[in-house]
Amino acid sequence: MTDETYDVVIIGAGVAGAAAAYELRDLNVAVVERESFLGGRTYSEQFGEVLWANYGAGYFSSDKGTILSLGDKVDVPFIPFDDTALAGDFVPEGYDKQDIAEIRQVKRRLAKEQSNLRDPASPELDQVTFEAWLGPVRPNVRQYFQYWCSIMSCPMEELSLYGTLLMSGSNRTTAFSDEPVTYDPRGNLVVKGGNGLIAQHLLQASKADVFTNTQVQSVTGTPIDGYLIEAEAETGPVALRAQRVIVTTPTPIVLDILKDLPDWKTAALSSIEYGRIIGMPVVVGSATFNGTPFRPTADYRPDAVYCETEFMLRSPTDLDKDGAYFVSQVHDQSSRVLWDDDDATLRAGVHAAFTAKFPELSDRIMHIGVHRWPYAVAKYTRGRMAATPDLCRPVGGISFAGDYTDVTHTDGAAKSGLRAANEVRAALKEASMI
Ligand SMILES: Cc1cc2nc3c(=O)[nH]c(=O)nc-3n(C[C@H](O)[C@H](O)[C@H](O)COP(=O)(O)OP(=O)(O)OC[C@H]3O[C@@H](n4cnc5c(N)ncnc54)[C@H](O)[C@@H]3O)c2cc1C
Repeated sequence: MTDETYDVVIIGAGVAGAAAAYELRDLNVAVVERESFLGGRTYSEQFGEVLWANYGAGYFSSDKGTILSLGDKVDVPFIPFDDTALAGDFVPEGYDKQDIAEIRQVKRRLAKEQSNLRDPASPELDQVTFEAWLGPVRPNVRQYFQYWCSIMSCPMEELSLYGTLLMSGSNRTTAFSDEPVTYDPRGNLVVKGGNGLIAQHLLQASKADVFTNTQVQSVTGTPIDGYLIEAEAETGPVALRAQRVIVTTPTPIVLDILKDLPDWKTAALSSIEYGRIIGMPVVVGSATFNGTPFRPTADYRPDAVYCETEFMLRSPTDLDKDGAYFVSQVHDQSSRVLWDDDDATLRAGVHAAFTAKFPELSDRIMHIGVHRWPYAVAKYTRGRMAATPDLCRPVGGISFAGDYTDVTHTDGAAKSGLRAANEVRAALKEASMI
């Protein structure tokens, strides 16, 4: 154990933890991270000088002002990318005119709901499932919206109307608030070099002590005596002391680490359910690529879905000059089918799907990555918005951040980290500890 007592120990070096550390950069802070990499669900990897792959968060829409301005402050290289696939009213093939007319009608109904500002926790938004709101529709239209809901890793039978509305309209950052939303003039952005650079830059600027490969097992103590954070590192047990703690992990891990929470907190944390995602980015070399192309070494399941994102998004933009990585993911339902398959099988399935769509790129595939996210998306199931105040409320000197306490994306995670940091700062000031 170090003799030092930190002002704050932050558990988790994802966006929420990194944002909190940056906000508290004038204090004595440690960040403890289980993985070897920083960024949590924004994990990315670089391939040579110009190529990278994102395994989690793919891009930042222009309304995500908090994460974008935090990134700008620490010189994160945001760049635009080819986002035409995100624009307009994309309807995949296989739908007839009547299907498309009904899909558009439902979208008009959604837009009307979107423009009717209400408290997110109001029962008509938080307690009604999308399926109940939708009512009977043509089978193809149901299938279309079921696919749409899979983006939130939640079937329409479970997804609340509130969660549905977060996916539609132009206001995904502050749904149901009349605060003006600013849109970044640069448009939708990615990070040149990989989205994980945001957490890396924030943590570097924070000057916090960062412990990677260190898994927190327990936190005990009180706001008066301080807290003991016990963890397991590759080199053996680690123990840190802190006046205050911010926990930013997904909720099942919070419940594992904090054994003596009051019932109201346990109930709120237990109410969050997660959807899984497997991220399987495809990295393609430039037109002059002359390395050995990736070739599958295993069989795959001919009937399984290996890419639900249809390889629609890629970055950077000039495929022939630079090469690119293509976003490729399977969301909750499909990922459960593939979850226990080995990586070679998954790569073979993605390879088959990719070369069927882009046969001309087959000899330029450099790499197909695999990362399983067991806690990919905190689902917007019924009652989540009513639970939000309890999810955010601190317990003694322990504060809670992470995307499940705000909107479930990088901007929500960043906001949650800033909120928890300011909560902790106020508590330390009140106790005359800083
Ligand atoms: C495949 C995928 C695609 C996505 N696409 C987008 C997108 O395009 N745009 C967008 O804005 N958002 C997207 N998201 C959501 C976004 O990535 C998350 O909302 C956000 O990154 C969550 O940040 P967080 O800090 O709350 O949690 P996390 O990133 O999960 O951070 C928690 C950290 O805690 C660490 N940890 C866990 N247990 C312990 C322990 N016991 N001890 C120490 N450390 C521990 C974890 O390793 C992790 O680093 C996507 C997510 C996924 C999975």
